[in-house]
Amino acid sequence: MNFETAVLHKKNKNERIIKSKVTPIYQTSAFAFNDLDELEGFYQGNGHYLYSRVGNPNTDELGELIAGLEGAPAGACASSGLSAILAGVLAVVKSGDHIVAADDLYGGSFHLIKEELTQLGIEVTVVSFSDLSKVEEAIRGNTKLIYSESITNPLLRVESLEEVARLARKHNLVSLIDNTFATPYHCQPYLKGIDLVVHSATKYIGGHSDITAGVLVGDEELTGKARGKIVNLGANLSPFEAWLTCRGAKTLALRMRQQASNAKKVAEALKENSNIKTVYYPFQHGEEGFGAIVTVDLADHINVNEFFKGLGWIKIVPTLAGVETSVSHPLTTSHRALPEKTCKELGITKHVVRISIGIEHAEDIIAQLNQAIQKSLT
Ligand SMILES: *Cc1c(COP(=O)(O)O)cnc(C)c1O
Repeated sequence: MNFETAVLHKKNKNERIIKSKVTPIYQTSAFAFNDLDELEGFYQGNGHYLYSRVGNPNTDELGELIAGLEGAPAGACASSGLSAILAGVLAVVKSGDHIVAADDLYGGSFHLIKEELTQLGIEVTVVSFSDLSKVEEAIRGNTKLIYSESITNPLLRVESLEEVARLARKHNLVSLIDNTFATPYHCQPYLKGIDLVVHSATKYIGGHSDITAGVLVGDEELTGKARGKIVNLGANLSPFEAWLTCRGAKTLALRMRQQASNAKKVAEALKENSNIKTVYYPFQHGEEGFGAIVTVDLADHINVNEFFKGLGWIKIVPTLAGVETSVSHPLTTSHRALPEKTCKELGITKHVVRISIGIEHAEDIIAQLNQAIQKSLT
């Protein structure tokens, strides 16, 4: 062999015998075959891999992990939470069909359905899911999908999943739930009868604010259809990001336990602060709390920008779910896409601050927030 050839084709004798403890990163765009029979075998479902957009061991590992945690038979990964939502929706609806969606969806999801799906000829009605009779009234002959979130953003309304599932069954519709805020640690919508569950794994599943990823779980048929959309749209997750997400997910239970227990303590402490009008936290759900987001509506006499400036080590970031406590301003970031009127109706005003509680000591988080409030009194 000449150098030019050897540098490419030198055999690595360890290639097939190293038994690593964790799955290596299959950072490869495609997979090789020994012969045409093996290649044909792929199409017959022999478990081989072909091309990473179509499937990769790292993305499969993540999909199977989350499906297992949610009690669902199948899972698929996408390049982001939004592309998982898109794939889930397109697995069910086509041009001419109708979706009923919650009016308090994550801003990006709202943008997706209102801007993009309507351009594809998919009709969308947005209603409050606080009263499911309103949802039922919005159902029409061409409705195929109802779509909400298990815990909403930023005001943390907890969806009645069994009732959403029952309503979907009654009208022969598919139900889709975004379970990002609750995570499979707190809630398994599939086991409550929800057909498709989507996650922005960018948030708690990854947990370290270093990836963008989406996961979708459900039965074999719907998940298979959604996987087909991911393949055709080129919305696949990269092997490295899938690997990082699997690595992060190993500590999901530990992180959620600590973050939710901190969140409950922070919410209880902030309730005592007279400079806060309302503290949003779903206290009623579970001993260890329910999720790790606490949203506060600061009193009118608080200068919101001074509050943000006074937070010190608590970073201002338009995301959530990392191990470090952070804050965001929904009105000007996550909910920017929503009409002003909708924000007002939902109660998302300038004084609403979303706090993503981390794994620090609860006392330090409480002290830091309280001193920022003290500095922002006007
Ligand atoms: C962040 C988020 C999304 C979008 O996920 P990306 O990974 O940013 O695409 C969807 N739903 C919820 C509830 C989110 O918080």
